Amino acid sequence: MAEFGSDAARLAQGVWQDLVAELKVNCPNSELVVGAEIPSAFLTDFIGSDVGAADVYVKASSTQEVSLALRAAYKRKMPVTVRGAGTNLVGSTIPRGGMVLDVSGMKRVLELDEDNRTILVEPGLKLCDLQALVESKGLFYPPDPAEKQATIGGNIATNAGGMRAVKYGVTRDFVLALEVVLPDGTILELGSPCLKDATGLNLKHLFIGSEGSLGVITKCLLRLIAKPEATAHALIGFKSLAEGISAVNTIYAANLAPTAIEFVEKKVIAFGEAFVKADFPLPEYQAYLVVTFDGKAESLAEQLSACRAAIAAKYQIGFLPLTDPEVAHNVWTIRAALAKAVQASGVWEPVDTVVPLKDIATLIDDIAALSAQEGVRILAFGHAGDGNVHLCILKDDLPLEKWPDKLERVLSQLYARVYELHGKVAAEHGVGRHKRQYFLERVNPDELKLMRLIKHSIDPYDLFNRGCGYDD
Ligand SMILES: Cc1cc2nc3c(=O)[nH]c(=O)nc-3n(C[C@H](O)[C@H](O)[C@H](O)COP(=O)(O)OP(=O)(O)OC[C@H]3O[C@@H](n4cnc5c(N)ncnc54)[C@H](O)[C@@H]3O)c2cc1C
Repeated sequence: MAEFGSDAARLAQGVWQDLVAELKVNCPNSELVVGAEIPSAFLTDFIGSDVGAADVYVKASSTQEVSLALRAAYKRKMPVTVRGAGTNLVGSTIPRGGMVLDVSGMKRVLELDEDNRTILVEPGLKLCDLQALVESKGLFYPPDPAEKQATIGGNIATNAGGMRAVKYGVTRDFVLALEVVLPDGTILELGSPCLKDATGLNLKHLFIGSEGSLGVITKCLLRLIAKPEATAHALIGFKSLAEGISAVNTIYAANLAPTAIEFVEKKVIAFGEAFVKADFPLPEYQAYLVVTFDGKAESLAEQLSACRAAIAAKYQIGFLPLTDPEVAHNVWTIRAALAKAVQASGVWEPVDTVVPLKDIATLIDDIAALSAQEGVRILAFGHAGDGNVHLCILKDDLPLEKWPDKLERVLSQLYARVYELHGKVAAEHGVGRHKRQYFLERVNPDELKLMRLIKHSIDPYDLFNRGCGYDD
């Protein structure tokens, strides 16, 4: 790994002043902040407990200025941490020196092609703004990660998933082309507006989910579809989480094609209810699935009733079609606020595992046993329809000095089990700084070697998102 040196050494070398002078000339429209002046909000992730340090913060205004800023960093072998909205939960925007390159200000919509159903945007556009714009034109961008303040560039860099992945797939499935800037400042267009492309290696896919390790995404051409005519939701209450999780396979076996199947335990709901100050219906049950169907309006009632019949044949359930707008609003607001509600309650660790569908119930049982054995509360919710189990491990009143060891014990056992079930450390949040240890412990060494070979061919000085993911 190339050494960048200590803070004091860099100061003595005059690296900051020299770099800042160059950036002031070459990037006049970008915002610059230096050293201790950089607000801590730009040096952390959503959790905010680990605040890093950087030498210079650059809020970029254009591809050209991104390229010139990167050239300046490359010349000095200065590490670079790329930043969107900073809503990641894995520490991937916590710098340990060098440059923070923030692209959240590059948020223009460059072209909405309604005939071709594509949209060309800059990476800093927020997901909520993209969704609102395309839906106002009768179009639809299906990826729907819960955090709507995240940027499209961040969604692409993490290959974000979300609730509608069950029916439509993840962010990767809707990216047609990207403009990227490589660590040495080279600007490159990858992919094409064509729906099919078997022309050489598809390098665009390397950048999707690369967590800022290969360069900066500066333009995104996204595929859209026609907006579904209608959407219907139902809340299904179960006597236990295990029954709720098992019912997911019942839904698929009935040949139904839901848009989303979310699961949540009752004990997590209490956090959401207190946080958003609303009531969750069917309080007599212990766990819930929220199912969504979309499509032609006349088909939805039939799908909901087939879903109810299939599940009721096997389990004792409460089934509530979410037709009352206020009740539906409460259910979705509480579901969407869960991570924020847990965050507001104290110290916690988010987990984003995924296992094959048939093993979710086993994993949930094993987690309950682990929670009892270690004496820590572990709350579960997530995207049951695709095996993506989100966990919140709570510190509660364990003394802070005992938390890191306890957490490591819990996580080591948890991920060992996940891998036994052929699952993965990260389903949609990425590896970042926080999951790196557990990823490195289990990744196939030849696969890791190949990842690093690719990385070094693009980023030979190992400057980008150092200390995160598969970085060596
Ligand atoms: C309450 C809550 C709910 C969430 N729910 C979901 C969910 O349902 N599904 C899901 O997938 N995620 C979810 N997330 C995680 C997070 O929102 C996503 O990872 C999101 O994609 C991050 O986008 P961002 O703009 O905040 O990126 P950041 O957090 O700023 O960055 C994330 C990573 O992408 C890199 N990056 C950012 N922009 C670029 C760029 N232009 N070029 C190259 N690299 C870049 C960064 O270096 C970093 O490695 C949730 C987070 C929160 C707080």
